[in-house]
Amino acid sequence: LVHIMVQPHYDDLDRNLVENAIHTVSEIKTPADKLGPGSGIEVILRLHEQNGTLKGRSLGTETLPDIDPRLVVADLGGSAFDLVAGLAPSIVALPSGSERGTFGLVSTSEQRWRVYVLPLSLNGTPAGYVEALTSLKSIDAATERFRLILLAFGLFGTVVALVGGGILSGHALRPVARMVKAAQTISTSRNFSHRVEMPLHQDELGQLATTFNQMLESLEEAYRSQQRFISDASHELRAPLTAIQGNLELMRLQKNMSETEREEALAEAEREAARLTRLVKDLLALARADAGMPLKFRRVDLDVVVLEVFHSVRTLVHGQKLILDPFKPIQIVGDEDQLKQLVLILLDNALKYTPVDGQVRLGLRRLDNQVEITVQDTEVGISAKDLPHVFERFYRADPARGRDPGGTGLGLAIAFWITQQHGGSIELNSQVGQGTTAKVHLTVRS
Ligand code: ADP
Repeated sequence: LVHIMVQPHYDDLDRNLVENAIHTVSEIKTPADKLGPGSGIEVILRLHEQNGTLKGRSLGTETLPDIDPRLVVADLGGSAFDLVAGLAPSIVALPSGSERGTFGLVSTSEQRWRVYVLPLSLNGTPAGYVEALTSLKSIDAATERFRLILLAFGLFGTVVALVGGGILSGHALRPVARMVKAAQTISTSRNFSHRVEMPLHQDELGQLATTFNQMLESLEEAYRSQQRFISDASHELRAPLTAIQGNLELMRLQKNMSETEREEALAEAEREAARLTRLVKDLLALARADAGMPLKFRRVDLDVVVLEVFHSVRTLVHGQKLILDPFKPIQIVGDEDQLKQLVLILLDNALKYTPVDGQVRLGLRRLDNQVEITVQDTEVGISAKDLPHVFERFYRADPARGRDPGGTGLGLAIAFWITQQHGGSIELNSQVGQGTTAKVHLTVRS
């Protein structure tokens, strides 16, 4: 930058020296001629004989310091002399006929001098040379000042950039620091209700904070439902255990129990043990589901699955009419065991909640690229109040609790998960006193 700024001034100086030297040479007609004053910037003109002896100097420049002419001659280089910090000055194009002139640079103790030397010939014979000198003192000083100012500005700029950058980045990264702190607090306290303070602007950091809070929200929800699940599960497990324990104690304490009473106590303990087994099995199924257990997908003959389950539930029938609608072979891609479980849960519910004189109907049919499994029962039904909740874990409609102690309240939650894993849907339509129809839709994938 310094070079770009000062170069024109050095060029001006050179141009002036050349003009003065040429003018002087053209004025000298005899070796005895005196030199006139230089023009333009302060220029000393000196006339030397061929052997270097100083013959005269320009008028009005007596106050300027004298320079040993030998010094000039000795310093005369070819062309490029470094003027500024190792950078070669541009050599000003000389007017035609003056090509023989040479530039030079002289350094005295106080200052530097720029010199231009032009040979002088009178009547075709060399008659010495004219020297044009100008001091570089003021331009060098200005250059130095300029260099110092640039340096000062550079330093000032660097300091401002460093301090400003530090303040800015500190300010910009404050939300990140807050997020880190929030994450640390949560990881130590396990308190997912904590939230990160939102930055003022919805820039990338704002989005990060939003996403972070959303993640916390879903973690909080997952954590809460897990807690709920555990406490519900323990509660449900306690009931059959208490019943078993109670009956065993009764048999131990009442020595003179009648045979029928003993039979009843044993039967109840057995029923509760069976219920406990079912509960544990269902809890295990849901725990596996929560852990993201992968299903074993392969080609399944759904008609065979439906038929097998239909046969297996015949033992659960206690007077109801169990009907299987005619169906054709249908293949889908799915997990055979899970599909069996799905049909079993629906049929089991239908039989559980249908009285002796009722009827349960199982159907399987193809609809375009879907299959529909229907389990229809009569009479009991589910109230409009309960219907939206039956897929929730441990949810049991009140009448069911009273009538059937065998249910776990987990069957439909498992059925929902299995259908979801197969990319299908499940819905329950019901009317109290009319009966319930469960419909499962699964996609036929080839
Ligand atoms: P459960 O083990 O109690 O049957 P489910 O999750 O399978 O648990 O069902 C939840 C509740 O939905 C049942 O307790 C019952 O109140 C109601 N329900 C499910 N299927 C039927 C049905 N076919 N008829 C009447 N009520 C039903």
